[in-house]
Amino acid sequence: MGHNKKRFLAMLLLSSISLTTVSFADSITEMENKKNSNLKSADELKNSINSLEQEKNSLAGDVAVIDQEISALEAQISELMKQISALEIAIQETEEEIKKLEENIDKNQKEFEERLGAMYKNSQVGYLDIVFSSSGIDDLLSKASTMKFITEYDKEIINNLKNDKLVIDAKKSELDGQKLSLEISKQTLDNKNAELYASKANKLVLIEEAANKQSISQAELEQLESEIYTLEKNISSEKAAQAEAARKAREQAAQAKATAQAQAKASSSNKQVTSTVSTKSSVGAGEISTNVGNGTLGWPVPSSRNITSNYGYRTLFGVPEFHMGVDIAAPLGTAIASADSGTVIYSAYTGSYGNLMKVQHDSGLVTYYAHLSSYVASVGERVSKGQTIARMGSTGNSTGSHLHFEVRVNGAHTNPLNYIQ
Ligand SMILES: [Zn+2]
Repeated sequence: MGHNKKRFLAMLLLSSISLTTVSFADSITEMENKKNSNLKSADELKNSINSLEQEKNSLAGDVAVIDQEISALEAQISELMKQISALEIAIQETEEEIKKLEENIDKNQKEFEERLGAMYKNSQVGYLDIVFSSSGIDDLLSKASTMKFITEYDKEIINNLKNDKLVIDAKKSELDGQKLSLEISKQTLDNKNAELYASKANKLVLIEEAANKQSISQAELEQLESEIYTLEKNISSEKAAQAEAARKAREQAAQAKATAQAQAKASSSNKQVTSTVSTKSSVGAGEISTNVGNGTLGWPVPSSRNITSNYGYRTLFGVPEFHMGVDIAAPLGTAIASADSGTVIYSAYTGSYGNLMKVQHDSGLVTYYAHLSSYVASVGERVSKGQTIARMGSTGNSTGSHLHFEVRVNGAHTNPLNYIQ
């Protein structure tokens, strides 16, 4: 048979006339389309989840590298801080030394000035006393030289202290310089460390974003997978229902055939049936005997009268289905004959029809031959009634080798058996 709702829908779309009175959903096809589109979306989501995982891993790798850089840098900073505090201690010590020296210088200076002042007073008041109290010029000279010696000695002490202070000052300013340089280095490292922390924080934010996207995609994927599961369940139960309906239809057809054969037997005894009709009824069952045509067209499959599906409505599990032609079964490659003289006007693969040939007849009718395995005649060719124009096949929407034969009147399909001999 090979005819389901999908085929009917496809034919409806292909048909040059519109059948607005018949319209129903093809639930299996719709469900399968939905399932396939869900599978595609699920694949896309899986890819996106995987690439987010890779992104996260790569970011985590970056963070680990940054952490290493941070700890190396922090070790350097801590070493610098130790050096800086050692310098600070040294600087404090030199400052104390400087302070002591300054105090010492001040003290010596003061004492020296006091002594000078005293000597000056003595010399002013007692200069003649010294002269006259001297036992002689030698004693006088000796006293003067002693004064001079004392003055020089004080000056030297003070100068030495001042020199010491200069040395310490120089030392302190060197330490200050070292400290400043270390502080500059530390500042540079601190800045670099702050940059690393900022970069790490940035990467952690990106990781969190990727993880959020991942969990959204994961939820969508789970939703899709659950839909796919439901669709698969519905598709298989729908298919089971169809198979069951087909089995019942076959049972009914067999019963009808048995009844028709019984009737044929009964009527053959009164010899009133023509040989043509009896040939048809012996193969095509009761269906044909009720559809004896006007004889305009010949039978398109000379070697077989095995009709497996008639023109018209059928009901499968409560859903109406319209079949626009007659199906005649025979082995693959069986010769297909032109139903009447005419011109081949079409031969091409056409959706659910598979390989389709159309012949325009002189009577105005057009005949369709579908599911062909090959073409014998070609477009434009003039063919005579009964001439082999193609070979039977199972192309397009078909489950076994058969010819789907249609008769069109002004484009509208009609029951072919009304025109058959
Ligand atoms: Zn058909």
